[in-house]
Formats: sequence, C-alpha cells, structure tokens
Amino acid sequence: MTTELTHFIGGKHVQGTSGRYSDVFNPATGEVQAKCPLASAEEVRAAVENAMAAQPAWAAQNPQRRARVMMEFVRLLHRDMDKLAEALSREHGKTIPDAKGDVQRGLEVAEYCIGAPQMLKGEYTESAGPGIDMYSMRQPLGVAAGITPFNFPAMIPMWKFCPALVCGNAFILKPSERDPSVPLMLAELLIEAGLPEGVLNVINGDKVAVDAILDDPDIGGIGFVGSTPIAQYVYSRGTASGKRVQCFGGAKNHMIVMPDADMDQVVDALVGSAYGAAGERCMAVSVAVPVGDDTADRMIDKLAPRVESLKIGPYTAGNDVDFGPLVTREAHNRVKGLIDSGVEQGAKLVVDGRDFKMQGYEDGNFIGGCLFDNVTTDMEIYKQEIFGPVLSTVRASSYEEAIGMAIDHEYGNGTAIFTRDGDTARDFAARINIGMVGINVPIPVPLAYHTFGGWKKSVFGDLNQHGPDAFRFYTRTKTVTARWPSGVKEGADFSIPVME
Ligand code: NAD
Repeated sequence: MTTELTHFIGGKHVQGTSGRYSDVFNPATGEVQAKCPLASAEEVRAAVENAMAAQPAWAAQNPQRRARVMMEFVRLLHRDMDKLAEALSREHGKTIPDAKGDVQRGLEVAEYCIGAPQMLKGEYTESAGPGIDMYSMRQPLGVAAGITPFNFPAMIPMWKFCPALVCGNAFILKPSERDPSVPLMLAELLIEAGLPEGVLNVINGDKVAVDAILDDPDIGGIGFVGSTPIAQYVYSRGTASGKRVQCFGGAKNHMIVMPDADMDQVVDALVGSAYGAAGERCMAVSVAVPVGDDTADRMIDKLAPRVESLKIGPYTAGNDVDFGPLVTREAHNRVKGLIDSGVEQGAKLVVDGRDFKMQGYEDGNFIGGCLFDNVTTDMEIYKQEIFGPVLSTVRASSYEEAIGMAIDHEYGNGTAIFTRDGDTARDFAARINIGMVGINVPIPVPLAYHTFGGWKKSVFGDLNQHGPDAFRFYTRTKTVTARWPSGVKEGADFSIPVME
C-alpha cells in the first residue's frame, strides 16, 4: 500500500494541495512505498507566515528554556532511535547501524545546542569611552530555512534546525523528496519536546518549493546541503534576494597512502570509508593515491579480496550487511554508466560489481563494490563525484605528485593521509587546500563542537556547519554604544568618535 506523506505546518501534519507528488521508493525492492507531496509556492508562503507568527514569542523565551527543549529532544531521540533508524533505512537503503549513526551525528549537534545560553552571551566592554559602555548581542535572523540532501535524512536536517531554533529563529525545513519520513518524525518529536507549534515547519517539495524559499522576502537565511551545481544555484539566487546563504556541495575525497603506512590499517580504512553507505557520503573516500608502485601493488593485493567479499543486502538482513542498495534506480544507472566510462577510458577494473544481483531483490538498486586501478586524472571517474561503491586508484610516483593531485581537484571537502611519518603528515595538513583533513583517519568528520565544511567547489558562502560557526550563521550581531544623560557633558561633535 502506498502511504501519502504530508507537510508539517503549525505543529500538525498537513496534506499537500498542489496535486503534485513524487514517488518514494524502497531501494531494496524498487517498489513505490509512499507519495511525497510537492509543495506549491503558495504552500511555502503559508508555512513562512506560520513561522513568522510563531517566531517572536519563541525568541522572547530565555535561552535556557530554548535549550531545555533541545535537552528533551535529545532524550526523545534516544527513546525513538530504533524507530527512526528503521524508517530511515526503509527509504534510504543504508544498514540499521549506519542509520543509527545518521541519527546519532544529528543528536550530537542537538546536545551541543544545549549550550546555547553560553554561546549567545555576547560581549561587553565597560567604559569603552568616558561614561560609555559598549555591548554586542546576537539576535536571531527571524525565519531561517534549510534545504537538505537525501544521503543523511536525519543528521543534516538536525545540523540545520537545532542551532537555528535554539538561537530563537523559526525554521522552514525542505528535506529531500527521496526520503522525507524521518524529517517529519523529527518535527513531531520537537513538538513533544516542547517546541511551540509553528516554530519548525517541514515543507516537502522539489525545485518549485526551493525557488519559493529562495525568493521569499521574509526568510533571512538559508542553509543548503546537496550537489555542487544546485549549491551554486541556491547560493546565487538566495544571495541575489539579499539573504545570508551557506551551501555545502559535492566532494571527491583523496586518501594518500605513503610507503611507510601500515597496510592493514590502510585497507581497513579504505573498505569502510569507500564502500560504507554504498559510497553515498560526502566524506566517502573515492580516490586512493598510493605513493610508489610497490605501495600500490601491496595495497591492491590486500584490498581486492576484501572488496570481493563485501556483504551487500537489504537493511532487513540485519547486522551482517556491509552496505545496501543505492537510493534510486536513476542513481544506480548513473553510477553504472560512470563505471562503464572508466573501463572505456582505459582504467583497470580490478573488482567488477556491476552485475551483482541480490537473490529475491532483483528489482532493488544494488550494485557490488568496484575497485579501479590505473585511473588517470583526465578520466570522468576521477573528475566526477560518483556517489556509489566505487574506489579509484590513481598511482603517484612521489608525495609531491600525490598532494598536487588533491590540491588541483576542484572539490575540497575531505582528505586523508596514511603515514607513520609526522613530518609528512604535518606538511600535508599545512599545505592542503581542503576543509577537513584526516591523519590516519579516513573519514575526518569533525564532532559537533568543531565545525564542518569544505573548501573550493565543495562550498559556497561563509561559515561552516555546527560548532560555533552555526551560532554565528543563525544570528545577527548588534552592537550598542550607550551613554546615559548625566554623561553628556559636551555639545555636538562632528568628527568620527574616537575613544582615546
Ligand atoms: P541534490 O543537489 O540533488 O539535492 C539537494 C536538495 O536540493 C534537495 O532538497 C533537492 O530537493 C533540492 N534540489 C534538487 N534539484 C534542485 C533544483 N534543480 N533546483 C532547486 N533545488 C533542487 O543532492 P542529493 O542527491 O540529495 O545529495 C547528494 C549530494 O549532496 C552529493 O553531491 C553529496 O556530496 C552532497 N552532500 C554534501 C555534504 C556536505 O556537507 N558538503 C553533505 C552531504 C551530502
């Protein structure tokens, strides 16, 4: 049976009225399991008006009370972890342990946001001039919005709305139309946690809803995560209408393997980070760069049997599965097409997972792990983000050639180096033009109290996600210079004030 999903406006589930829907698939079976309403511009506007009406009273609550809503939200996330993970896996296809990680990484940002009273304290200078005090305060933007991707349907919405809400904003979330159920469940949990109705509204939709958000005169800031072309589009259109916008885009993460690296550790790291979640992670390692042919041969020899024996299956198969299907048939065909292009352009496909079929799930979007050797930097599989269980090996003859490759690639989200040499690792961290760097750590996703963000074409706009930057992004600074009447001793001054 196909379920009709809703929007979540004013604290309630609201049916779509545009008459447009998109299909939500079960990636393991290929079946349509739900219909997702695609909002019209009018429906977006109604949600914004609802948010505007609810925001002033929410912002007027003291920061401790807003933080307590986050505290209770964290408790409810723990309570409902199994339910959330199941709903997430059913629409996304990732394994249950991985889905729990998706919820957990969002929950940690909610936990960090409990510290809002500390983060929002502002600054104060007593006697900045004679009889003059100066203070800066952080005030909410009003209504903020988040537009999020399919690959982390719990974590990324929480990265957006938790800091925005705790700063006193109302929020419009436009999650991915491919797996919209978990964001709706999160909105319900926030109401249960004590968030006033209308402060968080979830609008489901596609480009029509996104464009309405980008052009809305009453939305003050937008946080986007998704592919680079859409990130660039959202940034230009959103900033053109005068908003504060931060957009996080695609990635091509290189892992450099030095000759002195522990090869068992390298292979474990590559298997987990390249193939986990079927490679549908913006921090997945998609390029291995072994330095020297001997390093490359040792790496491929150990890695190939591990890739061949990866366990692939539906999330319902339990903890024994390493990764599941790709999110849609369209994604499956795109990934397969890119693998074909790699073969045509002359790369060596050491492990070929293209014909993998899952017994009993023949219509699912499964693809086996693929391992390429002898990839060169002019090939499409090197230039493009594949977003599938595919690792490309590009052999480098020296450390300089390896670091140069990562520096020259247009994406700059994450990278890693595996070595026992502190000097090389230190040089790498200092010179690389990439936002998140791992030293013997393959997926260096910063924790909630640091900030997350790439460089180059992996980001458009200022400030990172979560950590202190999120409090800066979702607030505006106002600085007050105050002198009381008894302190006004001289007459008018026509030159710029200087506090000597
Ligand atoms: P996507 O760009 O297709 O979609 C992202 C959001 O934009 C969705 O909400 C979608 O509805 C909307 N959208 C899609 N097409 C649009 C259009 N033409 N106009 C306006 N809005 C549109 O991305 P995706 O496939 O859902 O997610 C995968 C991508 O996200 C990958 O490139 C991945 O690297 C990236 N990602 C980046 C980060 C990061 O922090 N840098 C994190 C996770 C995912």
